[in-house]
Amino acid sequence: PAKPRSREVPVVPQGVSRDQFLEALEELKRELGEENVEVNDKPLKDGWYMEHPNTHDMMTILDEEEFVAGAVAYPGNTDEVVKMVKWANRWLVPIFPISMGRNLGYGGAAPRVRGSVTVDLGRRMNKILDINPQDYTCLVEPGVSFYGLYEELGRRGLREHMWVDTPDLGGGSIIGNTVDRGVGYTPYGDHWACHSGLEVVLPTGEVIRTGMGALTEGGENTWGVFPYGFGPYSDGIFSQSNFGIVTKMGMTLMPNPGGHESFMYTFPKEEDLGPLMEIIRPLRISTILENVAQLRHVTQTIAAAGLPKSHFFSGSGTIPPEIIHSAAAASPVGDHTWAYYGMSYGPPHIRSYKLAIIDAEFSKIPGCRKIDPSTLPEDEYFWSRDRIASGTPDIHELRWVNWAPNGAHIAFSPVSPIRSADATKLFQLGKRIHEKYGIDFMPAFIVGLREMHLIVEIVFDRDDREEKERALECLRDMVDEAAREGYGEYRTHLVLMDQVAGTYGWGGGALGRFNERLKDALDPNGILAPGRCGIWGERYRGRGWEM
Ligand code: FAD
Repeated sequence: PAKPRSREVPVVPQGVSRDQFLEALEELKRELGEENVEVNDKPLKDGWYMEHPNTHDMMTILDEEEFVAGAVAYPGNTDEVVKMVKWANRWLVPIFPISMGRNLGYGGAAPRVRGSVTVDLGRRMNKILDINPQDYTCLVEPGVSFYGLYEELGRRGLREHMWVDTPDLGGGSIIGNTVDRGVGYTPYGDHWACHSGLEVVLPTGEVIRTGMGALTEGGENTWGVFPYGFGPYSDGIFSQSNFGIVTKMGMTLMPNPGGHESFMYTFPKEEDLGPLMEIIRPLRISTILENVAQLRHVTQTIAAAGLPKSHFFSGSGTIPPEIIHSAAAASPVGDHTWAYYGMSYGPPHIRSYKLAIIDAEFSKIPGCRKIDPSTLPEDEYFWSRDRIASGTPDIHELRWVNWAPNGAHIAFSPVSPIRSADATKLFQLGKRIHEKYGIDFMPAFIVGLREMHLIVEIVFDRDDREEKERALECLRDMVDEAAREGYGEYRTHLVLMDQVAGTYGWGGGALGRFNERLKDALDPNGILAPGRCGIWGERYRGRGWEM
């Protein structure tokens, strides 16, 4: 981790004087309790994933002073969130909600507007309000992490009964990840699709419940089992937005399928990508390939072993392909280029039926190899995928962040159909632009159902300004060029939100204007997470905030 930087003055949001800001914080302390409001006047510490800061992005691609909180507050319940929102409206101080703040690669805990007061919901609002083993549902507060729910299932003796779908890293918040439309790797991997009903504090301080929770009485009874309730389905506007603060969420859990079996195939050549897509698509849409699976490039696989690039290569520029392949020789990928990690679910006779089809189809790629898991050592990456795809949170995935010294990362995440031409075009686009900027290309295709996210992580040294600038330019080029070809980002880092929102410009920017109209109606003072997802309230628009 980088050394803490010194700081002499607290960070104050633009348009508010230092004295006013401190006075406002004194008032907030009276509302929430002295100990629940912290001024950010200390050196910024980056920490690491499990001990991450809540004041800034520990993996920042800009100067870390750009997106930094002025203070952090810890409300203890929905009423205190309401108090905080009303306080923000009185003082016109921007506030930025986080559940856990582990949104690494997309901005971490940082607010978009410098000096915002971070609403750290997770610290005190961390209750599992309900687990229902009959319906396979739960109701959680923002501070419940994937690990937290998994452990609670264990305490209640329910772990064999139901599974938590978890992203690559289990330390995130179930609500935080879901409202940012994050993904996991069981058949329940589309987290937003698996949630059911929200409680939301609106930017003016009203509280609403959506779905069945909105019933005048007794909504808890059906909160988790039917997501829609009656009337317009409003949940969508509270994901990837700045229209409300989610304080409770219903979530569905996966029944233990009665057995599971991970499998791994490798394919020799980069050019195999196209034909592979034609094989994967029908299998995935018909759910013979059952989970959100990953097709990873060998460079990613090498990096996931956790050794720095300097261990393999001391030259400058990108790591040459022959060095990658010699580094991979001892791994299960060997001299191949692609590795597919998947899982089959159910009792053995059901699995063997599906696995036989998969094997016959994958084997159509000349040179395809099926890896025998019994040959793999315990700390091999395969076993991390095995845990994650069977509902056990993990943090092995963090290892590839070690690729660069002071390792940080930022993601390019366009959505594509699962088709040969599209995968090949996106792959070539990413490869060419990475080469232009001298950056190692580490693509992984995350196969949803009818679409896939290409996730390309750029790993950079967070203390190297030149490297960061290059990474950002590379990303900006990829976002624009991909969008021109019809591939939009599914999610993005704070720094790219205006650009990405701009790529969804059909109808002369009709969607953006609609979002602005909603923003102004729901948040007339523009206090809630200004700029998040490229949505700025009237008070900020056209005043030079967009980047
Ligand atoms: P938070 O940081 O709390 O929230 C994310 C954002 O949502 C916040 O910035 C905020 O704007 C908004 N938000 C949060 N809570 C609320 C609320 N209550 N009300 C309104 N808005 C809110 N992500 C994946 O999805 N899948 C992966 O497989 C994955 N793999 C990763 C691998 C590595 C090595 C790393 C470093 C990151 C990975 N990530 C992945 C990204 C990230 O770590 C996770 O998405 C993580 O769960 C997000 O952090 P969080 O849950 O703490 O959310």
